[in-house]
Amino acid sequence: MGKQNITVRIEVTGMTCTSCEQHVKKALTTIGANNIFASFRKNEVTFEVPDKSYIQFAKEAIIKCGYTPRHEEIILQQNRLELSNDGDYDLVIIGSGGAAFASAIKAVEYGAKVAMIERSTIGGTCVNIGCVPSKTMLRAGEINHFSKQNQFLGLNTSAGPVDLSTLVDQKNELVQYLRHEKYINLIDEYGFEFIQGEATFVDEQTVEVNGQKITAKHFLIATGASPSIPNIEGLNEVEYLTSTSALQLKQLPKRLAVIGSGYIAMELGQMFHHLGSEVTLMQRSPRVLKAYDPEISEAITKAITEQGISLITNATFNKVEMANGTKLVHITVNGENMVVEADEILVATGRKPNIEKLNLELAGVKIGSRGEVIVDEYLQTSNPRVYAAGDVTMGPQFVYVAAYEGGLVADNIFGSLKRKLDLTVVPGVTFTTPSIATVGLTEEQAKAKGYEVKTSVLPLDAVPRAIVNRETTGVFKLVADAQSGKVLGVHIVAENAGDVIYSATLAVKFGLTVNDLRETLAPYLTMSEGIKLAALTFDKDVSKLSCCAG
Ligand SMILES: Cc1cc2nc3c(=O)[nH]c(=O)nc-3n(C[C@H](O)[C@H](O)[C@H](O)COP(=O)(O)OP(=O)(O)OC[C@H]3O[C@@H](n4cnc5c(N)ncnc54)[C@H](O)[C@@H]3O)c2cc1C
Repeated sequence: MGKQNITVRIEVTGMTCTSCEQHVKKALTTIGANNIFASFRKNEVTFEVPDKSYIQFAKEAIIKCGYTPRHEEIILQQNRLELSNDGDYDLVIIGSGGAAFASAIKAVEYGAKVAMIERSTIGGTCVNIGCVPSKTMLRAGEINHFSKQNQFLGLNTSAGPVDLSTLVDQKNELVQYLRHEKYINLIDEYGFEFIQGEATFVDEQTVEVNGQKITAKHFLIATGASPSIPNIEGLNEVEYLTSTSALQLKQLPKRLAVIGSGYIAMELGQMFHHLGSEVTLMQRSPRVLKAYDPEISEAITKAITEQGISLITNATFNKVEMANGTKLVHITVNGENMVVEADEILVATGRKPNIEKLNLELAGVKIGSRGEVIVDEYLQTSNPRVYAAGDVTMGPQFVYVAAYEGGLVADNIFGSLKRKLDLTVVPGVTFTTPSIATVGLTEEQAKAKGYEVKTSVLPLDAVPRAIVNRETTGVFKLVADAQSGKVLGVHIVAENAGDVIYSATLAVKFGLTVNDLRETLAPYLTMSEGIKLAALTFDKDVSKLSCCAG
């Protein structure tokens, strides 16, 4: 460990453009500050200086160049690392998605010399082929669906045919914009190296990229996951879609058969349905989202089937073939053979970790039965020099989990914080219509953990926001500890459930009780009022409540 350093943020008013940012940066360079990030959008500048006495000099320098420093705070006090002698870098990160960027940014803030290696498109899954493209296309689908099927008598908003090609071009533009803003631009902003190429370990402290060997004191494997394709006879002979290619399709399939039932299958299946395809969702398990509470599966099944999506559960996939230009999926359901005909087949049966090119044996990194990189509670692998974060570890596959893990790795390597991974309270959202959002324990999980459980199940037609929206298929379910009243889990199927779940996450994380929820005002007419109403219904009949949930 070397000298102490502090990172300071000062609110600055008067900056209106990127030139102003440059003026402030230049002024702070003259007083010896490092890692300076000025932002006129955020009205702030952050920078590193050796100690507190520099803050006054910084403020004077900002005033001198014509801007007004206001409130300041020390946001990080760190032991700045001496750069390593044993390697080209302090940290080499393989991958450039959410886990990678969160880790790189934090590692640089600790003063580490960092390189990031990416074999494909910078930004990884979320921005390029995952969250962003799927959600913007889902939104287009929703608008199309609601304009065709509005529930309000008197409104006549008939939608014309969907021009998928234009939608996809527009989506690609958005992806490109966000890739630049949220990833590419940050490389220079934070000051780490980006290497385009595929990384392969050659020994426990070296990777090879484009024929060049790179050594490092530490490595982070953040290589994510890709669609996993099931072994179904004939599938490989028929052209099928994955989530990646489905989001690039320029012509709407008339009939789409979806193999799979996880959140990606549900979202993309519904997106195509909303855009105008006839969609059949097929799955092996007896109910959709089988890991969730049965009330959640029931509510979403009702909603999507009411909308006209065909749902086939308990299916055994026998074979897939092409006949006269039509794709045929042969299945057996409850002993009966059936054939589902489609113009396109989407395979969305889960994801597998991207480890195939890493040569993990040479790195001394162990993998598990699903090919996932095995990590301990500090995200360290069996090689103490190598860490792993994000989808490659096969934990909850959400970008915010990946980013949290990437940051934790940097804290543990460079801050010596010994932070333990804590995934006890992870909210999850499926962006269907209505959406599904859950956090904490299901009723079954709570019982298995030994809680004496009490639950409240509130149908959505008891929630005023849903009534006025005329969209009442859904449910709020609260799971609580009968002894302490603590909220253990919240599970919702409702419009905007994804926005509502954050308050539930706070309740579960910070141990709020059912009484706390009852005694907290909930704004009328919002969907989040459903949480309060569900809390009130533990021992009251909701139909007896006045309209304002008193
Ligand atoms: C259709 C879809 C929708 C989704 N929607 C959401 C959502 O709404 N909300 C949400 O939170 N999450 C969503 N996710 C999940 C989310 O995108 C992932 O959990 C997250 O992006 C994982 O981040 P990561 O950093 O672990 O890996 P990734 O972002 O996958 O990045 C890994 C990178 O490593 C690169 N790589 C792999 N091997 C090598 C190698 N040997 N050398 C160099 N580079 C390599 C890959 O090319 C890739 O770019 C969605 C996913 C999909 C597929």
